[in-house]
Amino acid sequence: MEISYDKIAPKICDCHVHYGQFREDNYEPKQIIKWFDELGIGKVGIMPVGTTWASDFNRDQKIMASLPTARFVPYLWVSPEMVDTDPTLKLYDTLNYKVMKIHAYAIKEWDKLPDKISTVIEVARNKKVPVMFHTGGWRGSNAIQFYKFCREYPEVTFILAHGKPISQTLTVLKGAKNAYADSSFMSNESIKLICDAGLSHRILFGTDFPIMKTFWPEINLLDWYRNNVIELIEKFSERDFMVWANENFYKLILRS
Ligand SMILES: [Zn+2]
Repeated sequence: MEISYDKIAPKICDCHVHYGQFREDNYEPKQIIKWFDELGIGKVGIMPVGTTWASDFNRDQKIMASLPTARFVPYLWVSPEMVDTDPTLKLYDTLNYKVMKIHAYAIKEWDKLPDKISTVIEVARNKKVPVMFHTGGWRGSNAIQFYKFCREYPEVTFILAHGKPISQTLTVLKGAKNAYADSSFMSNESIKLICDAGLSHRILFGTDFPIMKTFWPEINLLDWYRNNVIELIEKFSERDFMVWANENFYKLILRS
């Protein structure tokens, strides 16, 4: 059966998208708006890139306010300094964010600050928003590092962005019902391992768009995106994909 991308696109929610400076590339918010207009994606969970761009709440709030609210869902990029400035994190409520992101690869000191991670999680619990952890890249941001938090806070939803390494991700998903993995930069082999373990319903569709362009400068981003969607549906099923790309996003991220 021929898959019609255009028919599916408005129902798709991408839980992992960035704007900002990544290495040599500056992904302007205006350009992100344009790309998603062309792609016709329904909902886009968006956050700054954190690796070479120092977090700056005021700048991010301004940028988020310029994004069309019907499509873009703001996430709060949390740094340890933001917790120091206001441990209640109420200062950041004006963003009306739907996910809190902790990136222990971009900010390696998180690894030594489990109490501050707990502070963030407790705010997330009160606000009923998920906590997204970047996973992979080094010991301090590998999926297993976050297992204890998933177990300690069963009422909080956790999203293991990228689900890396996959063996550890499977351990966390099996041991904590409140843990999910997003599919950004996840290989089809890893997605298949999650499905084979009977955990397909614990995947969220995410892409990390547009930073694949930095890794693979020769790609056409819009073609890449459409092909990614079609490939996932072909390799798995439209039913599975719609759970990842629609049901789980509404259930976990847009619930508040
Ligand atoms: Zn990312």
